[in-house]
Amino acid sequence: MEAMHRHVFLNGSLLPRETARLSPFDHGFTVGDGVFESIITYEGRPFALRRHFTRLQRSAAIMGLETPSWEIVEAAVAQVIKANAATHARLRLTLTRGEAPLGSEQGPHARPTLCVASAELPQRTPLAKIHLVPWTRNERSALQQVKSTSYAENVVALAAAHACGAQEAIFLNTQGHLCEGSGSNLFLVHQGRLHTPSVTSGCLDGITRGIVMDLAASLGIAVDESPLTVEALFAADEAFLTSTFREVQAISHVDDHPLPLGPLTPRLQAAFRTAVTTEMFTD
Ligand code: PMP
Repeated sequence: MEAMHRHVFLNGSLLPRETARLSPFDHGFTVGDGVFESIITYEGRPFALRRHFTRLQRSAAIMGLETPSWEIVEAAVAQVIKANAATHARLRLTLTRGEAPLGSEQGPHARPTLCVASAELPQRTPLAKIHLVPWTRNERSALQQVKSTSYAENVVALAAAHACGAQEAIFLNTQGHLCEGSGSNLFLVHQGRLHTPSVTSGCLDGITRGIVMDLAASLGIAVDESPLTVEALFAADEAFLTSTFREVQAISHVDDHPLPLGPLTPRLQAAFRTAVTTEMFTD
């Protein structure tokens, strides 16, 4: 497993993964006090790295963490891609507070931990079945818009989806509106228009979501960001998920309810593939 991904970047050094070690007092480990980005490489280049860096900065600022410079991040990512021959792979950039008290205090002067690792891409099916989970996203959370390392809610939700034979879990927010998947954003199509929850719904400002909205605009497809009901999902002409690894993935079922597969999703998939192959978002 992961024979190709032998090296990790940790705090300034490229190390064999066996020798890379974190402190047991790292606040990322003890309380999930950290932020991260998941990035994909195409042809050995990180896709939309600038956008990921900007989101990392935003997440880190809310958490009171200092973001390393663009130059450090870009160089760390390049080193890992090169050392691991990560031509079409997943990258994971994790930034935590570093050593801190065992409780919730941030502590006086923690030195952040920065780690970049790579791995094989996750398996992906062409179509996704989604499962509506009974747990809510909190759009008024202190971690709203933070891609925090505290992902255990997503772990539980995704396991619940898998147990139902679905590939993604969908959360509603505290208002009962559609929010997002455990690791993806949600789009609906109604009468030729795209609809997606706005970020005030509590969803993450997905990089793929943003790119798909840009592509839709360039294709003259209208996009609405507004509160969406569960009924709107069941009544959708088409629906799809977006994420770094799913790209644009059509939804075939909401639990046992089949959804139509329509013309707009393949159009956006094609536009996305063109964006990748023409390197529209390589920096
Ligand atoms: N929502 C959540 C909770 C996620 O973890 C992700 C994956 N980063 C997304 C949405 C999709 O974001 P992106 O397109 O940046 O991968």
